[in-house]
Amino acid sequence: MTVTMPDAVERGGVEILRALARGIIDLGSQNRLSSFTLPYPASAQRALDQVVFTCLAQEHTPPQGIPELVFWCRARALSAWPLALPPDLIGPEIFLVDDRVCLPTQTCAEWASDGPSGVMEQQAQALLRDVMAGCSSRESYQACRDFLISRPVLTRQDVTAVLASPRDGMAWNRVKHLYSDVPDAYILDGRFAVCPTCQSLAIPPAGGGPWCESEACPRSSPIEPTYEAVTSQVLRNPLRVFVGLPGRTEQTVRRELTAVGVDVQILPDDIHRYRLTWPSGETWTMQVHDRVQPAMLATKVNESATSAGDGRTFVVVPKRVMIHRPNYRSVFERLTPPHTGIELVTDDELVRLARSPNDHNARRRDDHA
Ligand SMILES: [Zn+2]
Repeated sequence: MTVTMPDAVERGGVEILRALARGIIDLGSQNRLSSFTLPYPASAQRALDQVVFTCLAQEHTPPQGIPELVFWCRARALSAWPLALPPDLIGPEIFLVDDRVCLPTQTCAEWASDGPSGVMEQQAQALLRDVMAGCSSRESYQACRDFLISRPVLTRQDVTAVLASPRDGMAWNRVKHLYSDVPDAYILDGRFAVCPTCQSLAIPPAGGGPWCESEACPRSSPIEPTYEAVTSQVLRNPLRVFVGLPGRTEQTVRRELTAVGVDVQILPDDIHRYRLTWPSGETWTMQVHDRVQPAMLATKVNESATSAGDGRTFVVVPKRVMIHRPNYRSVFERLTPPHTGIELVTDDELVRLARSPNDHNARRRDDHA
């Protein structure tokens, strides 16, 4: 297997794109992707400066300010930007801002989290570590984690019901600071929506067709704004994207594995990894992600490939993610050195493998799904 490394020019392009994504996330978090009120966040201004410098160096007409930079992010696929970027990292028809709703895409959140200066997934990890530090046991942390995953939205009535349950009430008291008011961009006539398919926040765009925060969601169900915004709270954005979204697949996989006799325990030193123990004593590890860009997922898991002694190591993504990007597996494997021993599987493939652990070919059956 050949591992393709970006050259120096491409590394410069990657750095600019990371900075641009962080600037877009900051603008989006302040509801300024369409309003453009001053002052702009420093990260957005820095990204503009880097894009302008690169354009001028290539005798390419640069964006004239933040509004035009955002317009580029809405209208130009990354492959059309005057940046040298490795093809595996950008893929076809990828945008940083969704033109229909003028919000950062999931791809943008992944780029903003990429590299040593990444911010968004890192925020989610820091918040989860704080939750973990405040818990007296692994079970208590698991309960808090499951609470966040299962409840991306909480209404006033939900909170009343939660407080009536000792287990949910304990979790709520540890995580309630991780919820906030509904962002203005999602509110329509005082109400907002959740995608019936993936449970992410959703919007019925004026131009028609459903939209939700999950880029790989089939978005096939109608979006109905049924929640009243002033009496609801939503999970904070980094946790929605990097914990809640993959977490719903994680919960399904855990349930299926437990049903076939596998003991599933979250590792005490890691906020995401689980150890899977068979009745025979054999152990595997798994971590579940819901990322649309396979190259950045490869970078992330390569950094944390420390599973020596844990048997097979699985990185699990939902099947719909693999279908969304047909070359997902080949890009991931091209960027994952063989010595890491990491195996990329869909949720369906891991469950099938667990049901017949001697069938080592199970993970390949959906390659052309
Ligand atoms: Zn959805």
